[in-house]
Amino acid sequence: MPRRPGSGRFDVPTGVAPEDEYAIWAAVVPRLVADLKRFDPSIDGAAVHDNDPPTGDAHIELWNDGGGLTIDSEVTEDVEAVLITATLSVLDSGFFENVTRPWPTCPFEDGHSPVGGPHSLVPARRPGRAMWVCPHTGRAYVQLGQLP
Ligand SMILES: [Zn+2]
Repeated sequence: MPRRPGSGRFDVPTGVAPEDEYAIWAAVVPRLVADLKRFDPSIDGAAVHDNDPPTGDAHIELWNDGGGLTIDSEVTEDVEAVLITATLSVLDSGFFENVTRPWPTCPFEDGHSPVGGPHSLVPARRPGRAMWVCPHTGRAYVQLGQLP
């Protein structure tokens, strides 16, 4: 049983491994998929147990018309942080390999980018929440999982 912050006299690092990775991934997948469907409606995904019978170990699998993707990055009990890491993994994956247009496109007024023109938002931490953020101004748009 991982110790919770405040449960003892020692500070517990936020990177402590959770006992139930599946529960973390199950919380992450719907928000990850909700955003990805704005890019490609055929994308879907699920949290999957690593073992049968299930132990606490798990990963997520994503798929679309063109193939599949497994994300098995390090999991902590910080769902927002795991969601950011997973989103970055997908943006860096084969799903986006041949994509040259920005995604998700920064919606803020034009002219604030030093390179000019359309550019992608990036996932970043804001107080308590994982947000899509303009990399040039730091301005937050919406929470991860809530792209319109
Ligand atoms: Zn921007």
